[in-house]
Amino acid sequence: MQTNTAAVKDAKVKNSMKVKAAVVNGVNEKYEMEELTLSELRADEVLVKVVATGICHSDEALRIGDAEYPMPAVFGHEGAGIIEKVGSAVKDLAVGDQVVMAYDYCGTCPSCRTGHPSSCKDWTPINFGSPRSDGTYIFTKADGTPVSNFFNQSSFSTYTITYANNLIKVDSETDLRLVGPLGCGLLTGFGTIVNGLKPETNSSIAIFGTGAVGLGALMTAKIEGCSPIIAIDIHDSRLERAKELGATHTINSRVENLEERIAEITGGIGVNYSIDTTGISSVMKSSLDILTIGGSTVPLAVTPNSLEFNPFTELTLNNRKVVGVLMGDAVPQLAIPKLIQYHKEGKFPFDKLVKFYKFDEINEASEDSNSGKTIKPILIIDEDYRKDEPVMES
Ligand SMILES: [Zn+2]
Ligand SMILES: [Zn+2]
Repeated sequence: MQTNTAAVKDAKVKNSMKVKAAVVNGVNEKYEMEELTLSELRADEVLVKVVATGICHSDEALRIGDAEYPMPAVFGHEGAGIIEKVGSAVKDLAVGDQVVMAYDYCGTCPSCRTGHPSSCKDWTPINFGSPRSDGTYIFTKADGTPVSNFFNQSSFSTYTITYANNLIKVDSETDLRLVGPLGCGLLTGFGTIVNGLKPETNSSIAIFGTGAVGLGALMTAKIEGCSPIIAIDIHDSRLERAKELGATHTINSRVENLEERIAEITGGIGVNYSIDTTGISSVMKSSLDILTIGGSTVPLAVTPNSLEFNPFTELTLNNRKVVGVLMGDAVPQLAIPKLIQYHKEGKFPFDKLVKFYKFDEINEASEDSNSGKTIKPILIIDEDYRKDEPVMES
């Protein structure tokens, strides 16, 4: 006869499932497709069948060791999928719901309660690979090795376990193949403008780096009525795209003199706002240097590099601000439906930044993102989803 403990253990094994996930086993190692065991679902958890996921620079920053992370790990934090199973304590979500996945937060600390979940007191431990409070892991290898998850969503997997606060329900018309990147990169670009900088109409803004985050900020700056909107990059093809999306001016800083061009565009006074998405020390410094008196800059990249300045001469004396904004300081459950609506209205045409890849092509997709060949790779994980329909465009 089984003991109670053995019976519980059996039930757990029976309720766990096998998934296919892209695992990073060590710094700088490629993604490897592996079969992992996904733990049984707890009362406060939600099982999601992943349809598609963006690859964000943060996934890559951790893979290549720009920031430390406990490995092996399943990254991916721009997922979209369909709810497969809901824990008994989860409210307002049901099997079959279409969801975008963003980051997790506690929901009860002062920051969460005042609408700033990315300032959650537990943001880092919740999102950065800690095991559950009882010490168990959501993913394990066949030999029992625990595998860290990421953002409590780990979307580089056919199925994942996540939490109600990660999930943003979207209507049944929404094409899940497209919308995953709204959960991080585009949310960050959008929120940095509307919540971080709150620009006045006709204020000037310069955006360094025209990747997904930079272009998300640029499209939002246009919606918010900024002018001029200056895009800065070192690739003409990217600057062309920035123009199509709303840049009023572009600067190729490899061949043009940045300070001179900014002075020319702003009548010599500098810009009200700037955003750096490159994380390169000299570029972050430029984004501070080109501010007008009273201007603000946001350094946004996940970077090991420093920004050095004299706080008196370069900030205080000019009333300038260097502002940190995480995940756009947005409430994902409010911001993402808004971005989907903007996309429908043609104001936020982020589909123009996207290239689709098969799940197995994750290493190629990351390389294309790192080299700049692709702005926003999206991996299609469930190839049967709306198989015969073209992807929704703006
Ligand atoms: Zn919190
Ligand atoms: Zn991200």
